[in-house]
Amino acid sequence: MSTPALKIYNTLTRRKEEFRPIDPANVRMYVCGPTVYDYAHIGNARPLIVFDVLFRLLRHLAKQGVWDGGKGETKVTYVRNITDVDDKINARAAERGISIRELTEETNKVFQEDVRALGCLEPTMQPRATEHIAQMIKIIERLIASGHAYAADGHVLFDVPSMPNYGRLSRRSLDEMIAGARVDVAPYKRGDMDFVLWKPSKAEEPGWDSPWGRGRPGWHIECSAMSWAHLGETFDIHGGGIDLVFPHHENEIAQSCCAFGRDVMANYWMHNGFLQVEGEKMSKSLGNFVTIHELLHTEKFGGRKWPGEVLRLAMLRTHYRQPIDWTVKALEEAEQALSSWYGRIFELGLDTDDQFAAPVSAVNALSDDLNTAQLLAELHSLGKRGSYPELLGTLQLIGFTGKGSAINTIFGTMRASEAPDTMSAALGVETDFKQVINNRVSARNAARASKNWAESDRIRDELAAMGITLKDNKDGTTSWEVKR
Ligand code: AMP
Ligand code: ZN
Repeated sequence: MSTPALKIYNTLTRRKEEFRPIDPANVRMYVCGPTVYDYAHIGNARPLIVFDVLFRLLRHLAKQGVWDGGKGETKVTYVRNITDVDDKINARAAERGISIRELTEETNKVFQEDVRALGCLEPTMQPRATEHIAQMIKIIERLIASGHAYAADGHVLFDVPSMPNYGRLSRRSLDEMIAGARVDVAPYKRGDMDFVLWKPSKAEEPGWDSPWGRGRPGWHIECSAMSWAHLGETFDIHGGGIDLVFPHHENEIAQSCCAFGRDVMANYWMHNGFLQVEGEKMSKSLGNFVTIHELLHTEKFGGRKWPGEVLRLAMLRTHYRQPIDWTVKALEEAEQALSSWYGRIFELGLDTDDQFAAPVSAVNALSDDLNTAQLLAELHSLGKRGSYPELLGTLQLIGFTGKGSAINTIFGTMRASEAPDTMSAALGVETDFKQVINNRVSARNAARASKNWAESDRIRDELAAMGITLKDNKDGTTSWEVKR
């Protein structure tokens, strides 16, 4: 059985193309990461999950040796940055009366917990902008030297008209951009579309010494510097949400191509579509704004907490380039599907610690521009046919049953001999499931007795994530119920 060629839709050419890495020994991908001033929302979760599935697929294909003549030694390097210098960060830290470092550390910590709960692998590298100021300065110096940037009034600006094919990614002409954009007028700007590479910092603002005085970088230059530092002047795939095409990615391309004298920054540009909530644009003013953290740990959305796997499956039911509508109904359906699949998997005694093979039809679906909607149809059909080893292999391919996942923690403590007769209503299962829960409750009571509150909270949250509510009194937990 031959492995199909990977095809991806390239925003640069507006076509689906066969993916061929520049270096068959190392596939290189960069995805724009979070600005760590506030918790990531469920829209931000979309690129995290989508590009994690791509990372997993690339690793799978690399192991098959599709790019190195069957050797299977291709490395996959996935870089997702952390933007820890930004004016939104400065403003939020001041508002909360904490230091910038405290704010970015705290936000990044929650971010890392969130993405782990969503079942995402750690990228190969997560560079921080503040650790790459020297590279940013180098790129800016090169741009000035080659006539693509100018210093004025403590600022350095990119000279947009100096780049003949500026606008290639977003396919807009300079005139259209000027007409469509909210252009900042500033006395130090030569052209309307010129954008900031470096700007001066006041004493109380974070700043670094540079040839243009003490200042800080603009947002776009950060990604040019970090991708250069870790992936080189050109690399294979660059990803992010569709809103980043213009101006962020257009400006990254301008900076990197002009600084390094290259035609392209990355060969394939991939963009996920937007997420809306129950048919409406997500916004704080509409009150439908929901963070990953809230979905996992509070009852804000649909009146209950949701396991990370359920969020992950719900996100993958729609092809990544389509808009997605985030609804309680879709989460319930995802949970029902997962519960029934896992229920059967454990009934059959399949050990999720073992690696199962996904059928070629599943790999085919993913290789066709990451068609996870098609893959989900495959999963349902494998379930209907009772092909559970293949179904488990497919789930594993897209990042389910990872260690530490909530469903695995609960069901994984059972093995075939202990598994109840039926788990179709997985959370309402009979006797043996109750035993498993009772064991967790005892462990929590023991933790409480020894005042190990962290452990006791952890167990409570783990159970809550499965829809189990504990009833506590001063002597410990006396009973629990399954919320449907
Ligand atoms: P930001 O923090 O706004 O820079 O966004 C981080 C990532 O999330 C970027 O790749 C954005 O394109 C993406 N993103 C932001 N909002 C949404 C949304 N509502 N739906 C899908 N992706 C989004
Ligand atoms: Zn970026």
